[in-house]
Amino acid sequence: MIRITELALPLDHPAEALRKAIIERLKIKDAELLDFTVFKRSYDARKKNSEIKFVYIIDLKANNEERILARFNDDTHVRPAPDTNYYPVGQAPANLTERPLVIGFGPCGLFAALLLAQMGFKPIVFERGKDVRARTKDTWALWRNKVLTPESNVQFGEGGAGLFSDGKLYSQIKDPKFYGRKVMHEFVRAGAPEEIMYVSKPHIGTFRLTGVVSTMREEIRALGGEVRFESKVTDFIIEDGRMQGVTLANGEEIRSRYVVLALGHSSRDTFRKIHERGVYVEAKPFAVGFRIEHPQSLIDKARLGKYAGHPELGAADYKLVYHAKNGRAVYSFCMCPGGTVVAATSEPERVVTNGMSQYSRNERNANAGIVVGITPEDDFPGGPLAGVEFQEKLESTAYILGGSDYCAPGQLVGDFIRNKASSEFGEVEPSYKPGVRLGDLNPSLPKYVIDAIREALPEFGKQIRGFDRDDAILTGIETRTSSPVRITRDNESLQSLNTRGLYPAGEGAGYAGGILSAGVDGIKVAEAVAKAMLEDLA
Ligand code: FAD
Repeated sequence: MIRITELALPLDHPAEALRKAIIERLKIKDAELLDFTVFKRSYDARKKNSEIKFVYIIDLKANNEERILARFNDDTHVRPAPDTNYYPVGQAPANLTERPLVIGFGPCGLFAALLLAQMGFKPIVFERGKDVRARTKDTWALWRNKVLTPESNVQFGEGGAGLFSDGKLYSQIKDPKFYGRKVMHEFVRAGAPEEIMYVSKPHIGTFRLTGVVSTMREEIRALGGEVRFESKVTDFIIEDGRMQGVTLANGEEIRSRYVVLALGHSSRDTFRKIHERGVYVEAKPFAVGFRIEHPQSLIDKARLGKYAGHPELGAADYKLVYHAKNGRAVYSFCMCPGGTVVAATSEPERVVTNGMSQYSRNERNANAGIVVGITPEDDFPGGPLAGVEFQEKLESTAYILGGSDYCAPGQLVGDFIRNKASSEFGEVEPSYKPGVRLGDLNPSLPKYVIDAIREALPEFGKQIRGFDRDDAILTGIETRTSSPVRITRDNESLQSLNTRGLYPAGEGAGYAGGILSAGVDGIKVAEAVAKAMLEDLA
């Protein structure tokens, strides 16, 4: 296989133009090109007013590949293609009696369970929430009717926190073993659009992700695994520093010496329980702030200029960073083009925001978190769970500021910058359901966060014209940007530092931030469990 990089073609090129461009680039005859696939397609819109082109990475098979490669010996854009296939690390013997347990069925638990099932280990998954269908109903009940179901909501249930999301599937993680390709490949096999394999910023959107997740769950079951919903793990059986099993909310005990802990960042009661049981946990940095909303057309125009609205490019995104005078970094987080701001609490009488979209990304507004990084050392000193308590306090205050009925507190950007309470919306309508109550956001977050965001917004307005327009909306508050704890594990075996057989994984344990990286971490942990089980058998 040969890989060509940096192959540029106009945005509106016909499909056949790609084959022609490859042949011309390699100076070969049409018949010599046997097959090709697009490994990646991206575009660069950073240079204002210049023509936007698609830039391809192509993997291809051709006659006489060695001769072609020799001809392009000095060309760094024509190289042998790396092997991106996934190879399992082992296979369980047919007579295996012990079954690994997976706690949590978000992207991390899903991939851990799927990989273990594919290797023949027949995992048992415990998920505190409901299956996608029932969960969707419960989640909408909060948004439409202000009724929260604490065990079934945006955070808890089949598919985890990423189910009602923008479904962005990219990440900055280093991935030398191409585990990210395995995640994408499994999503496509389960019904995700093919293009996620190659577009540079793939996304699925909420409704498509729901179908994909339930198909993958059925595959785990077909391979002999079990997936149990409404099965909250409430305790851990640990003997002499070794996992021996778990206890469920109904009192049932399930024994296993291999437990994947893929809790997500919102399982505060379970964080408390593992800490109580002596599992090593430490506080870690995260970020807090607001969601900001603008008309999507404003972002498209600023990012894509004359290409705004081009059907091949879709709704534009952005990424912003600013270093405030008080030493704080302010940055955009989880930007959702053409999406909505969602009520993302899992706990009664708390308000927390996040963003989601559909595959089409055609809602009127763009939204993103505008957040400030905070650390345990400077901002929430105390024990390992101090960050959890810090989040809880802020989310309770936001609930009261929003009117104590799950509406969120909000303020217009212009008023926020001028430090004046808001009373009336402008042209931008907030998308957050059940609703936004305008007022003063000053009391919602610590002063250093407010000051840093107040300073950053006009600066962001210099990068994206109109970003600081008066009637853009800030909705509070964003607190669950990542886990407030790390359930630290040993880099080699991926087991807890002090509890053998416990494999902390994914976002809740502090080892992922986003759907893709959580899926990748699930694969890594599944491999570690498989290797340990096979070694213990030998
Ligand atoms: P989670 O997805 O949180 O899954 C953990 C699961 O464990 C949950 O289902 C929970 O119910 C279960 N659980 C917890 N405790 C227990 C227990 N004691 N017993 C049994 N089960 C338990 N990321 C992106 O990459 N792109 C996006 O576009 C994006 N948008 C988002 C939008 C929203 C609204 C939210 C909330 C998040 C979004 N994220 C996005 C973040 C992403 O969802 C998470 O990073 C990802 O889901 C983390 O995966 P995880 O498997 O580690 O944890």
